[in-house]
Amino acid sequence: MELTVAQKLETLLKLQSIDSQLDELRKLRGDLPDEVRDLEDEVIGFETRIGKFKREIETLEVELNGYRAGKKEAEKLIQKYKDQQMNVRNNREYDAIAKELELQELEIQLADKRTRETEFKIKNKNTEISDVESAMANRKKDLEQKRKELDVLVAESQEDEKKLTVSRDKAATNVEERLVNAYNRIRGNAENGLAVVMVKRGACGGCFNIVPPQRQADIKDKKKIIVCEHCGRILADVDAIEIVRR
Ligand SMILES: [Zn+2]
Repeated sequence: MELTVAQKLETLLKLQSIDSQLDELRKLRGDLPDEVRDLEDEVIGFETRIGKFKREIETLEVELNGYRAGKKEAEKLIQKYKDQQMNVRNNREYDAIAKELELQELEIQLADKRTRETEFKIKNKNTEISDVESAMANRKKDLEQKRKELDVLVAESQEDEKKLTVSRDKAATNVEERLVNAYNRIRGNAENGLAVVMVKRGACGGCFNIVPPQRQADIKDKKKIIVCEHCGRILADVDAIEIVRR
């Protein structure tokens, strides 16, 4: 059942009209869908930062354990050297052990210093985490609010949207896929979502450039599908009333 060009154009016009109504419905939702998406991205960003801080804290804690273990080791050595010192046979041995003891005392001081520094870093990271967490809590509140608003708007128009989508799909199956694809492509590129337009007052209804009289006659003939040479939109017909008014 091959449609005539006139029938195809009629179907495309119908498709356009439904799609324009769908566009209007979605426009009612305004910037809300974008706002919700932005807030969702922001929350994910916060979560990523918190995750990064937590991993950094884990690394710092490993370092901290290392310093504490090092200190314990030095304390053990000190105890050992002190025992040895009791049993030295001469001054030379005593001095050698005293040097070792001094070295281990320094090790302990160094470990204590690094422990303090690392604990300070961990404390700062935890502060950063709670800052980010409270900022995130605020954003989550905003997000919840916006989601609710959007849900209400969507619920209001959902029924209409469903009906329109059903008739849109039905209309689309009546024309060959190639043509529907072309229609979708033109619509996707058009800022106003118009892929099929009428010639009005001698001009393309999409880009308002003049359509020459001979071309207008061809469009009215509906022997083939003609597109605007300026914007590529499909020119379905010439608005007769407008012509008469001229
Ligand atoms: Zn045009």
